[in-house]
Amino acid sequence: MTDTKQPARVRFAPSPTGRTHLGSGRTALYNYLLARQTGGQFILRIEDTDQKRYVESAEEELMEGLRWLGMEWDEGPDVGGNYGPYRQTERREIYAKYARQLVENGHAYYCFCSHDEEKEIDTEKHARQQHRDICPDRDVDLAEADQKIKSGAEHVIRFRMSHEGNITVTDAVRGDITVENSTLDDTILVKSDGLPVYHLAVVIDDHLMKITHAIRTSEWLPTFPLHGHLYAAFDWEQPTWIHPSIFLKPDGKGKMSKRDSEALLAAGKPIFLSDFGKFGYLPEAVVNWAALIGWSYDDKTEEFSMAELIEKFSVEKLNPAPAALNFTKLDHFNGVYIRSLDVVDLAARMKPFFEKAGYDVSDNEKLIQVAAALQVRLGNLTEVPEKGGFFFVEDVHPEAEALIGKKMDAVSALALAKRIEKLVRELPDFSMDSANQPFRDLAAEMETKVGNVFGFLRDSIAAQKVSPPIFETMEIVGREKVMERIKHGIELLETLQ
Ligand code: GLU
Repeated sequence: MTDTKQPARVRFAPSPTGRTHLGSGRTALYNYLLARQTGGQFILRIEDTDQKRYVESAEEELMEGLRWLGMEWDEGPDVGGNYGPYRQTERREIYAKYARQLVENGHAYYCFCSHDEEKEIDTEKHARQQHRDICPDRDVDLAEADQKIKSGAEHVIRFRMSHEGNITVTDAVRGDITVENSTLDDTILVKSDGLPVYHLAVVIDDHLMKITHAIRTSEWLPTFPLHGHLYAAFDWEQPTWIHPSIFLKPDGKGKMSKRDSEALLAAGKPIFLSDFGKFGYLPEAVVNWAALIGWSYDDKTEEFSMAELIEKFSVEKLNPAPAALNFTKLDHFNGVYIRSLDVVDLAARMKPFFEKAGYDVSDNEKLIQVAAALQVRLGNLTEVPEKGGFFFVEDVHPEAEALIGKKMDAVSALALAKRIEKLVRELPDFSMDSANQPFRDLAAEMETKVGNVFGFLRDSIAAQKVSPPIFETMEIVGREKVMERIKHGIELLETLQ
């Protein structure tokens, strides 16, 4: 089991092959938590040896995603460190040296068979038989192989898998996994382009970078035994391996496919790190939510800030059972964290959403007032323009009919509106203390519900059915604009007479 007292050296090791999925974000998070909890180091290593799948923008996007979630790394391709380079394509010579070592001590061999991996897998022969049983090069003398290489023969390096016995690898949350070696093949370790495959690179890098705990996606469980063999071949000590739960679709039925992710995205449910912010989610909410997909502290505590996660996270409490994504929970957390923000901070986070919708929110003081008024009414930052845009426009455009209260007609509504205008003009201020009773008295006098009084104010000032409390709204909009909008409301009602 993990000894969380020792400073952990952990790494997040993404392959820059596309957009960064929430699942990767969670893997990074668990690693990060362990590093920060133990006073260790969090390392970012870019695993870019699969050049065919390399996507240029991916590295930048994933770095942005990690930083957005609030994770900074101590070592990495951009910040450096004592164990670099941190981009695998820059470590070619290191891998070559260790691969040669494996060849020389008999744990690997040069293979001159067809190097087209995909074609190879396709051939029927290989579908039925393991490579090690048919490879003519497995037992070729090294001097002879070296000669062939010298003369320019294309080759790969394969692991020489034992036919006998078994291997046991240990996952800190899943326990021991034992497989018969006869089920394993002579996997390619170095491709014909000279670059190592993941299996070799990960073992060499984790060793050289002194990684103590490797938390990685459970997609690597099937090849985990091979990694055990490689450690044994090098005679290196293994890190503590941890493979957290896989994500299931929100309905719990099966793993998320690319198409599922796209369908979710179309329904406003982001799944790539760089989309959450655009969809109005706070990083605090995403971190809390992601941490709980496959980990729990106890059976009741749900809200965890990053600082609390750092304090409370433990590998022992990771649950390896597949976990369905629950977006309702994410929405819940988002509301919780929006409400917990300092208003100045909330205002700053609301700003881009107003701006994107075309509102001029350069008056920062007003923006902060609006943030305070909207704070308890927001579940998501994307609601900001719709709920608060009216504060930042010159004029609003209510429907004339909307200004007529319940059980009223255009004539009585106009009469009421005129009295409201007079009352507002005479009010010393728009505080609850000054304004509430006079409006109630007016409603009684006009023999109508107070809701109709506030309704007219809301519709004429905000032109929407829901707004922050009316006096707060009026205070922010300001006396001059309030009067203008009420007068405009009266004009609209006049057109209906
Ligand atoms: N490059 C691997 C991946 O993206 C990393 C796995 C690991 O963390 O070892 O899946």
